[in-house]
Amino acid sequence: TLDVAWSERWVRRSAEALAAARDELTELDRQIGDGDHGENMHRGFRAVVAKLDDGAERTQVGQVLKVVATTLMSSVGGASGPLYGTAFLRAGKVTERDALDAHGVVVMLEAALEGITTRGKATTGEKTMVDAWQPAVDAATRAAQDGADPVAVLRAAAEAADAGATSTIPLVATKGRASYLGPRSAGHEDPGARSTALLLGAALAAAL
Ligand code: ADP
Ligand code: MG
Ligand code: MG
Repeated sequence: TLDVAWSERWVRRSAEALAAARDELTELDRQIGDGDHGENMHRGFRAVVAKLDDGAERTQVGQVLKVVATTLMSSVGGASGPLYGTAFLRAGKVTERDALDAHGVVVMLEAALEGITTRGKATTGEKTMVDAWQPAVDAATRAAQDGADPVAVLRAAAEAADAGATSTIPLVATKGRASYLGPRSAGHEDPGARSTALLLGAALAAAL
């Protein structure tokens, strides 16, 4: 069940995955940015886990996602902090319930994507995290329409985000720091798209 316990496992799995991928994300950001994405995400989710360990009782998925949002906003600078912060804030608002059904997963992912595009004004093809989030939302929507259970919807989202991150490699960046490189940004994976794939992979792993 995708309940509050799942959401806490999601956060802890995310922190572990980001710790393990810290150097990889930093290296990606070194290629087309300023080399801090691994550290930003690692620091941010370490702070979220510390906050979750404060002993406060949380009964809804939305409460956990709100902790993620506010903590990321205050502990992660740069572009990704406010973007992920807004994503989790919007996602938290639509998950004020005990457990998510298949449609609930779709609504949560849609809200997160909407937060990111409202804040960052990027669309697909601009070599940003949107190139992982948008296919994830699309795949989740299709899976839910086909009658998939909530975990299968998450799986569809995670797999699509992973493929979406890979698909950023040939793209030329037109948003964010990587856009300063122009055509030279092609040939490298976008770090934020990769961290998105890690986060959604952690959401799935937490549900298995
Ligand atoms: P900074 O670029 O400020 O150092 P990070 O390195 O933590 O911040 O995050 C960079 C990531 O943020 C990029 O890889 C990209 O995925 C994402 N990003 C940057 N600008 C935007 C935007 N306008 N919309 C969506 N995502 C963006
Ligand atoms: Mg950076
Ligand atoms: Mg930076």
